[in-house]
Amino acid sequence: MENTNNLFFREIELAGEIYRVSDLPSALGGSLARLPIVLRLLAENVLRNTDGRERDEAVAAIRAWLPAGTSDAEIAYQPGRVLMHDTTSTPALVDIAAMRNALDEAGVAPEVLNPCLPVDVSIDHSLAVEAYASRDAATVNLQTEIRRNAERYRFLRWASSALDNVRIHPPGTGIMHTINLEQLATVVTTECRDGHIWAVPDMMLGTDSHTPMVNGIGVLGWGVGGLEAQTVMFGMPTMLRIPDVIGVRLTGALRAGIQASDLALVVTNRLRVLGVTGEFVEFFGPGVSTLSAGDRSVVANMAPEYGATTGFFAVDEHTLAYLRSTGRSESHLRLVEAYARLQGIWFDPQAHPRYSREIEIDLSAIGWHIAGPRRPQDLLDYGDSAKALEAVHFEPASAGNIPCHAVALAAITSCTNTSDPVLLIAAGLVARKARALGLRVPHWVKTSLAPGSPAAASYLERAGLLDDLAAIGFGIVGFGCTTCIGNSGPLTTPIRDAQQAGQAKAVAILSGNRNFPGRVHPDIELSFIMSPPMVIAFGLAGDASRNLRDEAVQATEDGTPVYLEDLMPSRNEVLEILARANSPEDYARDFAIASQNPAWHAIEAPATALFPWDEKSTALRRPPFASLSEGSLLGEYQAYPLLIVGDDVTTDHISPASGIPPDSLVADYLVERGDDRNDLNVFASRRGNWEVMMRAAFHSKTLNNLLAPQAPVAHTLHVPSGDVEPIWEVAQRYRQEGQSVVLLAGERYGMGSSRDWAAKGQRLLGIRAVLAVSFERIHRSNLIGMGILPLKFPEGIGPASLRLRPGDRVEIHAPSESLAPRAPVDVKILRKNGSVESLQATAAVETLLEVALLRTGGVMPSILLKAVSDAKKTAGSGVA
Ligand code: SF4
Repeated sequence: MENTNNLFFREIELAGEIYRVSDLPSALGGSLARLPIVLRLLAENVLRNTDGRERDEAVAAIRAWLPAGTSDAEIAYQPGRVLMHDTTSTPALVDIAAMRNALDEAGVAPEVLNPCLPVDVSIDHSLAVEAYASRDAATVNLQTEIRRNAERYRFLRWASSALDNVRIHPPGTGIMHTINLEQLATVVTTECRDGHIWAVPDMMLGTDSHTPMVNGIGVLGWGVGGLEAQTVMFGMPTMLRIPDVIGVRLTGALRAGIQASDLALVVTNRLRVLGVTGEFVEFFGPGVSTLSAGDRSVVANMAPEYGATTGFFAVDEHTLAYLRSTGRSESHLRLVEAYARLQGIWFDPQAHPRYSREIEIDLSAIGWHIAGPRRPQDLLDYGDSAKALEAVHFEPASAGNIPCHAVALAAITSCTNTSDPVLLIAAGLVARKARALGLRVPHWVKTSLAPGSPAAASYLERAGLLDDLAAIGFGIVGFGCTTCIGNSGPLTTPIRDAQQAGQAKAVAILSGNRNFPGRVHPDIELSFIMSPPMVIAFGLAGDASRNLRDEAVQATEDGTPVYLEDLMPSRNEVLEILARANSPEDYARDFAIASQNPAWHAIEAPATALFPWDEKSTALRRPPFASLSEGSLLGEYQAYPLLIVGDDVTTDHISPASGIPPDSLVADYLVERGDDRNDLNVFASRRGNWEVMMRAAFHSKTLNNLLAPQAPVAHTLHVPSGDVEPIWEVAQRYRQEGQSVVLLAGERYGMGSSRDWAAKGQRLLGIRAVLAVSFERIHRSNLIGMGILPLKFPEGIGPASLRLRPGDRVEIHAPSESLAPRAPVDVKILRKNGSVESLQATAAVETLLEVALLRTGGVMPSILLKAVSDAKKTAGSGVA
C-alpha cells in the first residue's frame, strides 16, 4: 500500500486496482473509532470537497464533537448525486426553465444554466389506482397516467434533453427509493478527478423525505426540499451543523414471523417519544447483525416518521449479500468491502462509538404491530385497532350493510414495505393460504399491490405467488407510489354510499409509512399502517375494528374460523421461497425493459435551450419567483396574520397532493380554462402551474384555521372588512392594500413530505414570516429557500396562549443586517384594543448560508445572481 505522505489523500490498491482515497484514518487519528460512522462519513466528505483553512477547521470541529457529543459548528456537505421524483422534479425543473428565461432576458446565454451534479428523476408519484383486481389493471393504470400527465411528461422529456446531467426514469420503472437501492446506489463509487481515479463513499441527497431508505445499505443520504436540492445541483454545498447522533443499540433477534415493518413501527414510536427531530440516528450493537439489508432499509426508510434526518446502518456482510442478490458484480463487492475496511467504516457489532444519546431495543421482545389511526408513531398491538377506533367516537346515523369501520382500502403500497422481497413473499404466502381456504375479500374493500420494483413481479411469479395474490384481489396495479401518496383512486360504491349516509367511517389499511387524515384519500380520515401480510389479513376481515388477536379473520364456507396464525407464514417458509425465487439478473433486466416504456418514448419533446411555454397550458406556467427581481422579505414591519393554525400542520395541509375536488375553486379555475371537471387529476400533477398551486395552498378539509374556524375549506378572514374569502384572494387584497402578512402555527409546523410547494405557496400568498412553536426540518429549510423567515416562539408561547383575535397584528423586527443563525428577533403583538405585548422570538435559521439566502430573497435569486456574475467575469476575461 502506497502512501503519498499527503495527510488528506493517498493512493492505494483496492481489490486489485489503484485508487486515490481520502486519508480518513490519518485525518481523524484516535478519534476515528470513537466517532459515530455517520460523522466519519461527513469527515470524509469534508476532506475531499474542501481545502485549506475550511477543511482544517471542519475536521478539527468533527474531532471536537467527541467530548460533549454535540457541536454548534457548521460544516459543508457536498453530495455526489441528487435523486428526485416527478412531483418534486417538475417544479424544480420548471424553476430551472424559468431561470433560463430570466438569464436570457438579462442577456446571458441560457445554456450556461445546468445542474453540475448527476440528477436522477423517477416518475413514480403520479400512478393512481383506477383499475384494480383485474388482469390488465397495471396496463390500464399506466396508460391513464401517461394520458393524464402528457403535457407534464413532455416537459420532463424536454428537460432530460435540454439540461446536462438530468436522467429520467420513466413511469413503470418503480419507486425512487427502490430504484435507488437496486439500481443507483453503489455504496462505494469511483470517479475521475484531476486525472486520478478516486474511490469515494456514495453520498447523496433526495427531494423526498424517505431518501434515508438507502441508509439501510450504508449510503449516507437524506431528504431535502427541492429548493435545497437546487442549491447543491448548482454547485453550492449545503451547510449543516455537525449533528447530534442518536445511537440505537439493537440486541437479540426478531422472533419467527415478525416482520421488519413491525420493527420499523416500534423504532418510530420509541424515537418519537425520545424526540430526535433534525438529528442523525445510527443503529449499532449485536442485533444489527441479525437483520438483513432489506430489514434495515425498511427501518431506515421511516426516519422522517421518527423525525430524524437519517436512520443509518453501516456496511457489513449483509450489505454485500444484498448487493449480490440484486445483481451487482463481484469485483464491485470486493471494492466496497476493501474500501469500508480501509476507512474504518465497516460495521463491527461489538463496537460502541460515542453517541449524543442512546436507547436500546431488544428485537426479541417485538411482536406484531399496527400504527394509527392518525399518526405513524401511535403504535398499537395488532389486536387493539378497535380500542383506538373507539377513541374516534363515531356514532353511525343508522345501521348499514357494512361494518361501521369498514376497510375501504387494503393497499400493499410504498417503498417502505414493498422493496424488501421478504415482505412481499410473506404477503404472497398469506394470499396462498387464504386462497386455498376459499377466503374472499369483502366486496366493499378496494385492494391493490404496487411494488417498488418491476423485479418483484419476476420473483413473485417464479414463486407462483403472483397468481395467489391476484386470486384474492391483490394483483399488481403498477409500479409506483399509488395509495401511499394519496393516488388511491375512487373508493368502492358501498363505501361511498355508507359514508354519505353517515353509516360508516371507513378506514384505510396500508403498508405505507404515513396515515395523516386525508393523506391516502381525501374522504378517509382514519388509516392503520402495518406489514404487507397484515394488510391482506385486515383486507380479508373487511373490518378495521376486528381484533385479529382473538377473533377469526374470516370463516371458511363450512363455517370453520380462520385465525391470523393460520395464515401468517414463518420466516423460514419465506426465506426458503426467496432462495428459490430470487434471481440477481432480474433487477437490471426488468428495470431496463421498464425503461424502454414505448408510450414514454413516443412523447415528442421540443429540442430548444428555452422551454416554449404555452400561455394556454393548465399544467405548466412560468413562475414569477424564478427571477432576478425577487427581493428579500426581511425587514421591520407590521403584518396581519393570514392564517393561524395549531399543532401538527403537515405539508399535505399546506399544499395538498391528492385528487382535486371537482367542486372546488381550483376546479372552477381549471374548468374555465378548458379542463374536464371529471378528470382534473391530483394537485401534485399541477405543481408546474403556480396559479393552480397558489389557489391550492391550505386546501384541506382537516386544517383548522383558528382565525376563521367556521370558514369553508381554503378560506380566511380579511381584516378590517371582516369578509371571509378564498385565502389567495385575501392575500391579493392585502397586497393591493400594501399590507404585509405572516402566519402563526403551533408545534411541528410543516410535518410530512419534503414538498417545496408548501413553501412556494406561502411565498405566492405574500407570507413574509412564519412564527411557530417548532418546525419540521425540511419545511423550515424550504421556507428559507423561498426567502420566508421562520421564527420560533419563546418557550411556553404559541397560537393557543396568544389567543389572537381578528384585527390583532404582529410587528416583526428582522432587518437584514442583524439577522444571524439562531439570533433573537423582537416581536410585538399589537392588539386591536391598543395594548401591546412584546416577546423575543428566535430566528429558526441554522447557518450563514441560510442567512445569505434570506438576504437575497431565496435560492433562485441567489443562483441567478451567481450565474450573471459568472457570465460577467467570463465576458470580462475575454473568454467567449
Ligand atoms: S414514501 Fe410513498 S410517496 Fe414517498 S416515495 Fe415512498 S412510496 Fe412514494
